[in-house]
Amino acid sequence: MNEDAPVYKRILLKLSGESLLGNLPFGIDVKTTQSIAQEIKEIHGLNVQIAIMIGGGNIFRGTSGTGDGMDRASADYMGLLATIINAIALQDALEKMGVVTRHISAIEVKAVAEPFVRRRVVRHLEKGRVVIFSAGIGSPYFTTDTAAALRALEIKAQVILKATKVDGVYSADPIKDKKAKKYDEIKYLDVIKQGLKVMDTTAISLCKDNHLPIIVFNLRGRGNIKKAILGHKVGTKIY
Ligand code: UDP
Repeated sequence: MNEDAPVYKRILLKLSGESLLGNLPFGIDVKTTQSIAQEIKEIHGLNVQIAIMIGGGNIFRGTSGTGDGMDRASADYMGLLATIINAIALQDALEKMGVVTRHISAIEVKAVAEPFVRRRVVRHLEKGRVVIFSAGIGSPYFTTDTAAALRALEIKAQVILKATKVDGVYSADPIKDKKAKKYDEIKYLDVIKQGLKVMDTTAISLCKDNHLPIIVFNLRGRGNIKKAILGHKVGTKIY
């Protein structure tokens, strides 16, 4: 077996909005965005077809608005718009490095993004363009994790790589509970049954019903995306 050959040909990388924060309390740290783009460029160089679903939590989350009395749908639409801002930042960083991208938004924003047309997106991937999905599925009451699962299935990605702040799935929050145990592998149903806060249940259920594996890993560990793509041990595999 060639240790440097990717085990996946087409992936969906889920980046939370928080991954663009760097050390900022809010918004987009351009240097952090560039370093993520650099890692994406490296795996792109391995001839892996890459689609990215970007979140918006660094700018706005629907639930933060509803806590203060906003209508849920209005707050969620604000969250959706936040993901579009993030996608533009990531696209800029990638294109500056010479990686050709296409930004696909689930909400119509003609000036900055294409609409989602499944067959066209697949064509972009086949041509080696990195696809950045924004605006989730375009509807309130969903998360970008669920959108990641849905789009991954539509484009027939072989895996979802979910980049997080921790190095995998734990039995409890490892920051609060020192006895929390990390899983190398865990079944979808156990994630749901144990109420582990890794992805929402809609996202996990979609993956479970369609046998789409998820690898949860720490984005801050440099080279982790590549390790996951090469099939090396990293994070937790949900299957
Ligand atoms: N959102 C939505 N529908 C979707 C995806 C996202 O309404 O299909 C909204 C929701 O308010 C969410 C916000 O967009 O809180 C940002 O997405 P998310 O919280 O998933 O981002 P992340 O946690 O990955 O940064």
